[in-house]
Amino acid sequence: MTDLTGWSVERLHQDHAQALRVEAEHYDSATDHQRIRVFENPTFGRIMTLDGVVQVTEADNFIYHEMLTHVPILAHGAARRVLIVGGGDGGMAREVLKHDGVEQVTMVEIDGAVVDFCKTYLPGISAGAFDDPRLDLVIADGAEFMRQNRDDYDVIIVDSTDPVGPGEVLFTDTFYGHAKARLAEGGILVTQNGVPFLQGEELTNTMRAFRALFSDATCYLATVPSYAGGPMAFGWGTDGDAREVTLETLRQRFATAGIQTDYYTPEVHLGAFALPPYVARLIP
Ligand code: SAM
Repeated sequence: MTDLTGWSVERLHQDHAQALRVEAEHYDSATDHQRIRVFENPTFGRIMTLDGVVQVTEADNFIYHEMLTHVPILAHGAARRVLIVGGGDGGMAREVLKHDGVEQVTMVEIDGAVVDFCKTYLPGISAGAFDDPRLDLVIADGAEFMRQNRDDYDVIIVDSTDPVGPGEVLFTDTFYGHAKARLAEGGILVTQNGVPFLQGEELTNTMRAFRALFSDATCYLATVPSYAGGPMAFGWGTDGDAREVTLETLRQRFATAGIQTDYYTPEVHLGAFALPPYVARLIP
């Protein structure tokens, strides 16, 4: 049996585990909501896990954060108000705030310790986003916020942990229904929806709810190396026609935005919605 001493072993899935070598331990403690750990890995840089599950790494977070922000914002074309649910590391806010047209970002994170902690141990992830005057950080349960809030948003991004622990409430029909009610006309809801090859049922459940709520409900894909098991799915729901945006229009909007990316391009954007049959079959 391989000796995994000195490795962080992620057991998110029943029959599949991921091990990451711990070159140096930076922090390991529990908050009121979850266990936070940060350690150094020679390939991925600093890695944060919550309850043992990889949340963000310095080396590959750009893929996930670029695809969950620039796809809905550039497809929408005139997003002014954005809501992020979760996102404690600040990476999602970092990418949203690169859009000068975005006037206001509300970020609802259940665990203030994650924010404080990431500012200290992973400052490069938020890269100053928490100091941006356009950002309004709310420490609350995203499900409760969505139930009570009466503001409208052009884009809602659910950047949550997986549907275990505090994140579970963010994968319910009730939550999705409340989120839809908070979308302005033409608004778009996008969600972190796991790795379909290992979490297919999670995607099916979300898509079933989206199909009942939105005229356009699907998902799009991107492969994030530290989210093991193949391409990751991002749920997409809207009553608007944002998915019909042309490549030419996306190219113009991307050029106007003047944002430097390492994964997102207008071509990658459109290609991400091309689903292989094993994923398409998971959408009811
Ligand atoms: N990229 C990661 C992934 O795909 O799993 C997500 C990263 S982000 C750190 C996840 C955040 O969701 C955490 O900061 C966690 O505290 C937050 N979270 C979990 N449940 C929540 C809830 N009910 N309301 C608001 N934030 C929540």
